[in-house]
Amino acid sequence: MSLEIKELRAGYGKIEALHGISLQVGDGDYVAVVGANGAGKSTLLKAISGTVQSFGGSISFDGKLLTKMPAHEIPTHRIAHVPEGRQIFPALSVFDNLMLGAWLVKDDTQRSDRLALVYDLFPRLKERASQMAGTLSGGEQQMVAVGRALMLGPRLIMLDEPSQGLAPKLVNEMYERLKQVHELGTSVLLVEQNTTSALKYSARAYVMERGKIILSGPSEELRDKEEIRRAYLGI
Ligand code: ATP
Repeated sequence: MSLEIKELRAGYGKIEALHGISLQVGDGDYVAVVGANGAGKSTLLKAISGTVQSFGGSISFDGKLLTKMPAHEIPTHRIAHVPEGRQIFPALSVFDNLMLGAWLVKDDTQRSDRLALVYDLFPRLKERASQMAGTLSGGEQQMVAVGRALMLGPRLIMLDEPSQGLAPKLVNEMYERLKQVHELGTSVLLVEQNTTSALKYSARAYVMERGKIILSGPSEELRDKEEIRRAYLGI
């Protein structure tokens, strides 16, 4: 798979939040986008998912223009989005939440194989399969959100602040699971305010500020450069 974003401008009504973003995610890539509050990170993922209006530029996935596609068609290309704040269905069971992620999967065997994989990654979800998702802890709800995305069998998984609201130990745990997902062959694009984890696990990163990419490169370099850390990353 390949995701290619060129000079993307996007926003809300008349407000432009992204002012010409160019970014690539290649096959097997693990890319992080970091930046402060309001930089436009969530807007970027929503533009890829087709839920935010693009004003100009292009987003293509395997050469197909996503910017011309209705939002409901994007997942058919096996692009999964784990939105900010999880957005699971609190009154449905864990199992039903996971199954909602498989709405496009017609093959029963494929569906049960994916469920087995999700339960393998997150055994806690198997234990809690019949529990109402709204009664889970924050960390468990994040597992449901990621698990639901995996039920699609994504070629690209996009995550919006997977560490948000999690205790430090759970942040590591979540990132270790995402590492496994990546190793199994899914390309990863994540946005984070938690720069430390994002730069530790990703291979490449982009730094966003006020709707623009101001810096990009191998994550290790961005992490190690003192002046970058101080000026842009707040770590
Ligand atoms: P955070 O980490 O706080 O979510 P972010 O980097 O993800 O920040 P966005 O949520 O993408 O930032 O917001 C980028 C800009 O777009 C901000 O100026 C924000 O106020 C604006 N914005 C976001 N959502 C909307 C909306 N629904 N309507 C109008 N403006 C919006």
